[in-house]
Amino acid sequence: MRSFTAVSVKPLSSGGGNGASGVQRKGSLFVVSAPSGTGKTTLVKTLIPRVPGLEMSRSYTSRPPRPGERDGVEYHFISRDRFESMRDVGAFLEWADVFGCLYGTSAIDTRRHLDAGRDLVLVIDVQGASQIRRLDGGAVGIFVLPPSPAVLEARLRQRSRDHLTEEELRRRLAMARREVERLADYDYVVVNDAIDDCVEQLRCIVLAERASMRVAGPAGKAIVRAIRDAG
Ligand code: ADP
Ligand code: 5GP
Repeated sequence: MRSFTAVSVKPLSSGGGNGASGVQRKGSLFVVSAPSGTGKTTLVKTLIPRVPGLEMSRSYTSRPPRPGERDGVEYHFISRDRFESMRDVGAFLEWADVFGCLYGTSAIDTRRHLDAGRDLVLVIDVQGASQIRRLDGGAVGIFVLPPSPAVLEARLRQRSRDHLTEEELRRRLAMARREVERLADYDYVVVNDAIDDCVEQLRCIVLAERASMRVAGPAGKAIVRAIRDAG
């Protein structure tokens, strides 16, 4: 999975407004996947306030809200019928059936964010991530692993919001065994042991991507041209 990060270069004389080079770049797309219970939602929610210009995408789902969840905050909660109509008219950049409920990322919301130059994180499952990978441009893929199977099971059990039966818990652990086999499809892997260390690693990945030649190259080249012209 790699990033495309479209850029458009303004002439230096235009005054810019996007930094000294006058280069306006579009946002980058980050995809974070991990087996259920690893801690990906906790990590990304902690990361967002620490990285200006980075936002978390809000998905659509046919899953009913859990206690405390609000429509338009954690998700856009919609009926299965409405989800299927939206899907059929191509409203989703990607979508998947996860544990019997439908989840999807809005194509138009994603485009709006990236066009406004904001970086966006999608916290989605491995099926959705593989659809994003096939799109023009793709994304930066980050896979989060639990430190061990025992820790994963303990986190799933401790997350009381799920009220999982023993059978559902076993199903999630079986799914986790399949999901981790997709590790090699991603660009980065982080282990969610101590939460702060893991968030810091994610922050560094975002900053590294922003400084990559793909993203920062056009701004760099504009400065190179200016230095050349000044000589
Ligand atoms: P996911 O979104 O991957 O399903 P959550 O973010 O809901 O997982 O986290 C699952 C549970 O693990 C939650 O109870 C959360 O508070 C806890 N958790 C997440 N990260 C850590 C961590 N690094 N150390 C200890 N507990 C964690
Ligand atoms: P939960 O219902 O626990 O919030 O999420 C269940 C699973 O669905 C998680 O693995 C989560 O990452 C995934 N998910 C949430 N939103 C989307 C989405 O828009 N697309 C896909 N493919 N998966 C999603």
